[in-house]
Amino acid sequence: MMSEPRSKTSAADNVRKLDAVIVGAGFAGLYMLHKLREQGMEVLVLEAADGVGGTWYWNRYPGARCDVESMEYSYQFSDELQQQWQWTERYASQPEILKYINHVADRFDLRRDIKLNTQVSTASYDEGTASWSVNTNNGDELSARFCIMATGCLSSTNLPKFKGLDDFTGPTYHTGQWPHAGVDFTGLRVGIIGTGSSAVQAIPIIAEQAKHLTVFQRTPNYSVPARNGPLPLEVQQSIKAEYQQFRKTNNQMPFAFGSKYNFREDAATEATQEELRTEYEQRWRTGGLPFLGAFGDLLFDMGANDTAGDFIRNKIHETVQDTAVAETLSPRQVVGCKRLCADTNYYETYNRPNVTLVDISGDPIECITPDGVRAKGENFEFDCIVFATGFDAMTGALFNMDIRGRDGLELREKWSAGPRTYLGLTTAGFPNFFTISGPGSPSVLTNMLPSIEQHVEWIADCVAYLQSNDYASIEPSSEAEDAWVDHVNAVADTTLYPTCNSWYLGANVPGKPRVFMPYVGFPPYVEKCNEVVAKGYDGFKLSAVSQA
Ligand SMILES: Cc1cc2nc3c(=O)[nH]c(=O)nc-3n(C[C@H](O)[C@H](O)[C@H](O)COP(=O)(O)OP(=O)(O)OC[C@H]3O[C@@H](n4cnc5c(N)ncnc54)[C@H](O)[C@@H]3O)c2cc1C
Repeated sequence: MMSEPRSKTSAADNVRKLDAVIVGAGFAGLYMLHKLREQGMEVLVLEAADGVGGTWYWNRYPGARCDVESMEYSYQFSDELQQQWQWTERYASQPEILKYINHVADRFDLRRDIKLNTQVSTASYDEGTASWSVNTNNGDELSARFCIMATGCLSSTNLPKFKGLDDFTGPTYHTGQWPHAGVDFTGLRVGIIGTGSSAVQAIPIIAEQAKHLTVFQRTPNYSVPARNGPLPLEVQQSIKAEYQQFRKTNNQMPFAFGSKYNFREDAATEATQEELRTEYEQRWRTGGLPFLGAFGDLLFDMGANDTAGDFIRNKIHETVQDTAVAETLSPRQVVGCKRLCADTNYYETYNRPNVTLVDISGDPIECITPDGVRAKGENFEFDCIVFATGFDAMTGALFNMDIRGRDGLELREKWSAGPRTYLGLTTAGFPNFFTISGPGSPSVLTNMLPSIEQHVEWIADCVAYLQSNDYASIEPSSEAEDAWVDHVNAVADTTLYPTCNSWYLGANVPGKPRVFMPYVGFPPYVEKCNEVVAKGYDGFKLSAVSQA
């Protein structure tokens, strides 16, 4: 409990004083609010959207759903919540996840401390008062001891600067900012640019509606069947019968999910052709991302990875009738070094007579025209265009704000050669500033719900520690941060992740430094976070209470 409540608006300076400001009302911001309020703190969440939900508020494109199973892609902090909530499908759809998040907001009475339609524009640290000044586009001025960024890894949409972008006379849509009323593509000629996870989900459904769908593909992605379907009550009940143990076991998995499936440790390089085929075939039939758990060396050994790549390429050729189209859809990069997709009828969709694939790997789109898209010397005419061009991942949302730490140090400047954090949670020069699932933490390489919960709980414990020990501020030492950045890179370099142009590396955004941002491996990461705490916040500088 804070010694003195800070939620006051001073008439003199019109600044609302709080214990903590949280930016973002997705899964991370909501749980952070709940935790800090439980500790008796005065907290306000600021959210740009007009509703809670984050990712699941914004991404309403047809087919949007999670690719981690619903029973795992959900909060575990409340046993009552996880026992009572009923999921209807193996992978929950966007509307169902949004309903769940809204239920959580109501159930824990969170809305009274969330300010919607409020975009944070600046946040700066005042050394004298050891507090953060936060300003919003609505003219709000807030002062808080702690500033917590729950702004999401995939919340800042990426729209390449196509020449002529504004010339198109029809409607355009970005999958990450989909209209709430939905879009009816019936009878329309639709162009979609991009073939990542969102496109892989949206393409089969848009194709069913549209008169014609033209897909512009720069890089093919590997996709495995999701095998989505209704979630049988017995499956749900059997998990709920031992939910806490199930969660615990999942948290020991490398990606914090999938313990129901065998993540094998033996090597593909030592398996016979028959063993490889049987294993991959069985995982293909089961569906979902545990495909990557077929062998222990898939993400570490190029030869091993090739066996998985060959299997998926064969499946594409078996599924897609036109050999040339199948070849164009066949990825050549390492399986998993770009996020593996899980689909429903993705490859099958290319057998439809109303779907055309345009390979733009060698010839980028020349321009957007008033009538459509010009590529490969040809004009493609559309009634509307869908941009499935992804996100400025991990740093984009942070860089959309002007964030300044000690001595006016700007975050964008500090991270100009790539993000630098300690544990993905904190950054030197920015006292009392936390990033939930920040760069340098497992984040996007994991089931993000347990990753988020682990971060929220770590931050809440840290804040409680500062308060009970009368510390005014905490920030990592530069040495600890440098060592962590080196460690994150060293771990990534033992894997095949950095081998292709992925958004994990920032490669989808021109000019973004190529640095592998997430930390590989959930259990060792959690162990390290716990060890830091057990050693009295090892690697951090703790300052005594400010007199200001
Ligand atoms: C289509 C899609 C599917 C996904 N599927 C999965 C999955 O199956 N499994 C998985 O683990 N992860 C998945 N993810 C990742 C997903 O982002 C996370 O699982 C999780 O929802 C992130 O929650 P969050 O609260 O950290 O961030 P978000 O949900 O992104 O919320 C961040 C919020 O911050 C707000 N915000 C940002 N900047 C500001 C600002 N300056 N001022 C005010 N508000 C701001 C945004 O408006 C947003 O509402 C998916 C992501 C996408 C895009």
